[in-house]
Amino acid sequence: MQLYEKQSIKIYNSLTGTKETFKPINEGHVGMYVCGPTVYSNVHLGNVRTFMSFDVIFRYLKHLGYKVRYVRNITDAGHLENDADVGEDRIAKKARLEQIEPMEVVQRYTVDFHNILNTFNFLPPSIEPTATGHIIEQIELIKTIIDNGFAYEVNGSVYFDVHKFNETHDYGKLSKRKLEDLIHNTRELDGQSDKKNPQDFALWKRAEPQHIMRWPSPWSDGFPGWHLECTAMSTKYLGEHFDIHGGGMDLKFPHHECEIAQNEAAKGQTPVNYWMHANMLIMNGKKMAKSTGNYILPNEIFTGDNKNITKAFAPSVARFFMLQAHYRSILDFTNDGLLASEKGFYRLMDAINLLKDLKASEKSSLDINTWKQKCYDAMNDDFNSPILIAHLFEAVKYINQIKEGSESLNAEDLATLKSTINAFVFDILGLENETSANETGTDKLSGAVDLLIKLRQEARANKDFALSDKIRDELAEVGIQLKDGKDGTTFSVN
Ligand code: AMP
Ligand code: ZN
Repeated sequence: MQLYEKQSIKIYNSLTGTKETFKPINEGHVGMYVCGPTVYSNVHLGNVRTFMSFDVIFRYLKHLGYKVRYVRNITDAGHLENDADVGEDRIAKKARLEQIEPMEVVQRYTVDFHNILNTFNFLPPSIEPTATGHIIEQIELIKTIIDNGFAYEVNGSVYFDVHKFNETHDYGKLSKRKLEDLIHNTRELDGQSDKKNPQDFALWKRAEPQHIMRWPSPWSDGFPGWHLECTAMSTKYLGEHFDIHGGGMDLKFPHHECEIAQNEAAKGQTPVNYWMHANMLIMNGKKMAKSTGNYILPNEIFTGDNKNITKAFAPSVARFFMLQAHYRSILDFTNDGLLASEKGFYRLMDAINLLKDLKASEKSSLDINTWKQKCYDAMNDDFNSPILIAHLFEAVKYINQIKEGSESLNAEDLATLKSTINAFVFDILGLENETSANETGTDKLSGAVDLLIKLRQEARANKDFALSDKIRDELAEVGIQLKDGKDGTTFSVN
């Protein structure tokens, strides 16, 4: 029996605005697509937060025994500066400014993205496809949408006909917008655009002569519209109808709305059962954005080199900080918040380090199975990591009480406590025991210094005082003091 047969998850579905019991299309299997980064600059911590929310969801689904196919794309073409299909391609612009090839930009920031996610202990997705690797699929999709009467070609570009689509479908159902309101709120076309209506969006854009990122198509040498790649790649790897689609809140409109429209127009069915949106990370109460300078890069947290923080923080501390907020809540990044999380994180790790030395008793005075189910209930309730963390701190209290002898657990319950903590802290929240990493380092240092102490004793026994002094002095130079006492030599690190 798999765990998912006992643990039933509820997911907040942005499409319906309610929490729904999760039921995958194929029992035991989950298809999940999350919009990946546009690789034209270093990921900031806000991007990391969104991907972390889905990393934890991926981890939890796997923990429950689901076979998850998690697809997270890399946007390496087609994402223009402005959502209204105007402006330069973000990657092409960066390439122009830096005088390098667009694919060099893509490579640089894809590597950065992977490095940062590794540092934060992310699991890699099952498939990480790129937009430029799926141009053929995108062209095929456009042909189908044109054939079905929902797109039109003008001057080598192809646009999705939102008004036509809305006659038979509901454009705006995800973001709860009405086409009439959109019409009311958008400016008239300035005559520069080929679109029939400003609400239409590009499926294919004819490339200007200077545009390097171009591919042949039946309509022109050009490039696909940004929304199309996700439809092409999710359909290819997860099918026309799959379980979960995620991304940051800011992608709901127009990106995800357009994905739904494209799928429905091309395939005649809505693509996704559960739409999930992660909320924004803000800093000091204001939107985190590169354009205003109000942002922090992950590396700056690890080095402490940013005016918004007073010291460096370990990756797991930053991870813990972010998971102390529910993924659907806005999270304000502050130095004080991080300092508080750091304290909590090390308190949790200290307790986990104590756990391995706890001794079982005859009888249990604590109800560990009820506590364990509370941890599952928290995650089953729309992946509520802050409530889970509150239960983990309940366990910290238990561990300290057992150590002091005021509470006790029998061997079976103690094993349950250990395995549950390990599963939730390390496998599901993806934290790493930074203190134990330090301890391993300390153990190795002790081993090495003990060896030098032994060599020094041998040198002394051989009356080689030059060597024995050299060992002592050179260790002192690197901050390790040897102290000779009546029980032998000990050392301290300055
Ligand atoms: P982008 O590379 O701009 O396409 O963004 C990658 C992901 O990061 C998307 O899912 C965005 O919604 C998300 N994102 C961007 N800014 C923030 C932020 N301040 N907080 C949380 N997520 C964000
Ligand atoms: Zn997308």
